[in-house]
Amino acid sequence: MTAAAFSASVLGLELRDLPWRRTRDPWAVLVSELMLQQTQVARVAERWPAWLAAYPDPTACAQAPTADIIRSWSGLGYNRRALNLHRAAQLMVEVHGGRVPNTLDELLALPGIGPYTARAVLAFAYEVPVGVLDTNAGRVLARGVAGRPLGWREAQTLADGLVPAGQAWRWNQAVLDLGARWCRARGPECEACPARSACAWAGAGRPPPDPAQGTAAASAGQSTFAGSDRQGRGRLLRHLGTHGPAPAGQLAAVAGWPEDGARALRVAAGLVGEGLARWTPEGHLALPQ
Ligand code: SF4
Repeated sequence: MTAAAFSASVLGLELRDLPWRRTRDPWAVLVSELMLQQTQVARVAERWPAWLAAYPDPTACAQAPTADIIRSWSGLGYNRRALNLHRAAQLMVEVHGGRVPNTLDELLALPGIGPYTARAVLAFAYEVPVGVLDTNAGRVLARGVAGRPLGWREAQTLADGLVPAGQAWRWNQAVLDLGARWCRARGPECEACPARSACAWAGAGRPPPDPAQGTAAASAGQSTFAGSDRQGRGRLLRHLGTHGPAPAGQLAAVAGWPEDGARALRVAAGLVGEGLARWTPEGHLALPQ
């Protein structure tokens, strides 16, 4: 099997119809990618249109109070993304004339934008021929093209080199879809996979070990949410956004750990340290001004 044959079968894939696949607007693409990083597709599909209606471009986001941005992110989790997006929007206004930059270096210089997100914006908004490498894509390339585990740098080089001319958007969306729908981490559905006839690993009879294991971009899933600090952080921020400032003595109950005031204060201090919250002069925890 060749990489070219694999590419051809991937390009023939019928893509899922997702709302952010109907736009090439760089700001809309960036927002969708940041939301999708750690939030389920269905939840993002529900929240993305309203969020964009409220903040349709970097300038609208940059001009909004930080508290409004954090409030608008409630329910999406990992609120730090909202703070980074707000800061990135302010930099886009200050440095890039209110536009989402279109080079890798400029995108990587913005807060909260890593190699995956930067390449996603380049490929999905600007049709720049770069490989968008995340867990799904890394797994697909390791199994389908290399037939062996890939280090991160090797996977990125391979991904960049595989993008067919003029098809950056379609190719990368198709690779991500293949990984999400058939080439799953546990139990790839090779029999039904549209790329099976050109897949290196399937063609070799799927010898162990699975190439996805040990592939750098194919990282482990998220840690358990229930009972985690993340859950408490989310509860605190949601409460501040809905009810306003909360006295320090109430934080344990709000966070869901009524017996563990020390933990609630530690988590609150973390939010303050990250700029997601502040202490008022009265000693209440509040959203930033
Ligand atoms: S044939 Fe199997 S291993 Fe190969 S790309 Fe499809 S799902 Fe993945």
